[in-house]
Amino acid sequence: MTAQQPLKILYLAAEMVPFAKTGGLADVAGSLPKAIRALGHDIRVSMPRYGRIDPIRFGLQEVLPAFPVPMDKQMEEAAVLQGTIASDVPVYFIENAKYYDRDGIYMYPDDAERFIFFCRSALEMLKRLNWRPDIIHCNDWHTAIIPNWLKTVYKDDPFFAQTATVYTIHNLAYQGIFGYRVLEIAGIAEYGFMYHPEMADLAEVVDFMARGIFFADVINTVSEKYAQEILTPEFGEKLDPLLRDRRDRLFGILNGIDYEVMNPATDKYIVQNYDVEHLEKRVQNKLALQQQANLKQDAGIPLIGIISRLTDQKGFDILGDVLDHVLDLDLQLIVLGTGDPHYHEMFSRIAQAYQGKAAVFLTFNAELAQRIYAGTDMFLMPSRFEPCGLGQMIAMRYGSVPIVRATGGLADTVKDFDPRTGEGNGFSFARYDRWALFATIVRALENYKYKDTWRRLQIKGMTADFSWNASARKYVDLYYRAIAARGKETKLEDYGVVRK
Ligand code: ADP
Repeated sequence: MTAQQPLKILYLAAEMVPFAKTGGLADVAGSLPKAIRALGHDIRVSMPRYGRIDPIRFGLQEVLPAFPVPMDKQMEEAAVLQGTIASDVPVYFIENAKYYDRDGIYMYPDDAERFIFFCRSALEMLKRLNWRPDIIHCNDWHTAIIPNWLKTVYKDDPFFAQTATVYTIHNLAYQGIFGYRVLEIAGIAEYGFMYHPEMADLAEVVDFMARGIFFADVINTVSEKYAQEILTPEFGEKLDPLLRDRRDRLFGILNGIDYEVMNPATDKYIVQNYDVEHLEKRVQNKLALQQQANLKQDAGIPLIGIISRLTDQKGFDILGDVLDHVLDLDLQLIVLGTGDPHYHEMFSRIAQAYQGKAAVFLTFNAELAQRIYAGTDMFLMPSRFEPCGLGQMIAMRYGSVPIVRATGGLADTVKDFDPRTGEGNGFSFARYDRWALFATIVRALENYKYKDTWRRLQIKGMTADFSWNASARKYVDLYYRAIAARGKETKLEDYGVVRK
């Protein structure tokens, strides 16, 4: 296969904008395929048709009526509906009322079974559509079983003889760990648990993430820095020995954001559109946001935003330690997020104690999110670890200056501002420490006083290229690497990871 030939790629994800979203994976799945298609490749995507995805609203059409899908020792039935992203990327929705007709996306006791079914249906769908992809691109644990199957149950299936797999790790912390039973459901019980001399735990559980890493032809994660970090025990979430074994197949490709959707000049959710030439208009968004959030309306006071899943990963423990000190400073804070009850309480208390100064929205709200990106002066992400992070990139695109901990993708995208040289596009700290965080907020506030300096920082963020342009090409290179790696996989038996 030469680099000129268009590739056929099936891209699978558990969530995807605009159909279903809980976090960054949905943004990536809804935008990277568009960018790859724009490079001339035939990429198609697939996801479950969750109950909340309205077939009429999205104009979905049935392309495959119910067909049998092997699950455990029986057959379940799947149907396939087709829609599109941005009118040119086909989306195949796997339909099954028993598994997907529920209010939410995840967090059900049968999640392993639900995603095994999704993956198996997607493979069987390909045969029925008679569409043979060169690449199956899997994302996170929900789709990690596919590389495992292609090297076991589908190993001798001529339909997949030319198909290579790519496995993207969006967050190593969510591994999808289950018991023996899922091997039976997935039809791979005869191959047993995985075994690795440095990872004793693996011999007793089914860790989907580990299987994706072990069986995929190539693996990547969503920033170069995180790709390095996960090789260490600190960030490796107990899979670092396996990742180190596979490091010759492990790459880092920074996520992009969708520059059509994330565009302050055209964003329908914000009160006042603006661009880098008309930055002075931006303040209207700040005033409107302050009004909406019951904050004191004041164009001059620095307004810091947080939009996040409220989990330990995002650094809210160290923020909690200094939150009262932060709010004693001359600033306002607006928080939008959902997650651990512990952090709901923490932020609710702050909203009560600092009325007019702190506003807290404990919900998921895409419209308010855009208003916060467009209306705040600074955007805070003090993450303990961060595979890539989209929030800081969206914030920069909208002229909100990021304050981050230098880890993973945050380190790759935000460089600490040095007033002496003018280098840097935001504020960052290295040590995961409450006072380092506090001091960095104070530094940002000090620099905010210098209007020209601040404007230059905003312009830097707004004119940087965080689009998919560069990264989509890197994914295409990765696809060719996967094809090249395919015939040369390590023999599982030699490697000793899978025992019979
Ligand atoms: P992660 O994938 O770890 O959640 P990212 O920074 O990569 O973090 O992506 C988070 C995405 O989800 C961003 O697009 C952010 O704006 C969005 N988001 C997070 N929480 C909320 C919320 N409560 N309401 C609306 N959007 C949210």
